[in-house]
Amino acid sequence: MQQFDTNSPEETWQLAKKLAERALPGQIYTLNGDLGVGKTVFTQGMAAGLGITEPVNSPTFTIVQEYTDGRLPLYHFDVYRIGDPEEMEEIGYDDYFFGEGITLIEWAELIDELIPENRIRITIEKDPEKGFDYRRITIEGMEQI
Ligand code: ADP
Ligand code: MG
Repeated sequence: MQQFDTNSPEETWQLAKKLAERALPGQIYTLNGDLGVGKTVFTQGMAAGLGITEPVNSPTFTIVQEYTDGRLPLYHFDVYRIGDPEEMEEIGYDDYFFGEGITLIEWAELIDELIPENRIRITIEKDPEKGFDYRRITIEGMEQI
């Protein structure tokens, strides 16, 4: 397990970018943490690290957004609004999870049972005592970065 402290969105973005520069085909990254903690900022940094230049936002009307203009495809899931894991079946999630690209899942805890164990777990937390822009980022399931 590795922990990082960041004090700005840019720092979180940079950390994620660095991670993505070493990402390997087929990896799954889960992102957990409260609303507004920085999961999408982290995703944007990872996209940049993969060389993706298209703008990355949280998919609003779809569960998954696919970006293909980088070194590896990025499958960005935000499952916050999912009502029933059946919806994951309908979009054919396993083609993404077991595909050659990088899967990144915001709110992964909501569909935990569908995600293979060999995922890389990223947890982002605030600590009000350490300031408004402070975040603790915990990464589990990968070698030292
Ligand atoms: P989530 O996807 O987890 O709901 P977002 O990434 O959309 O959250 O939003 C995170 C918000 O927190 C942004 O407005 C961002 O500017 C702000 N922020 C402040 N400090 C940080 C930090 N250290 N890391 C990431 N985001 C931060
Ligand atoms: Mg988000």
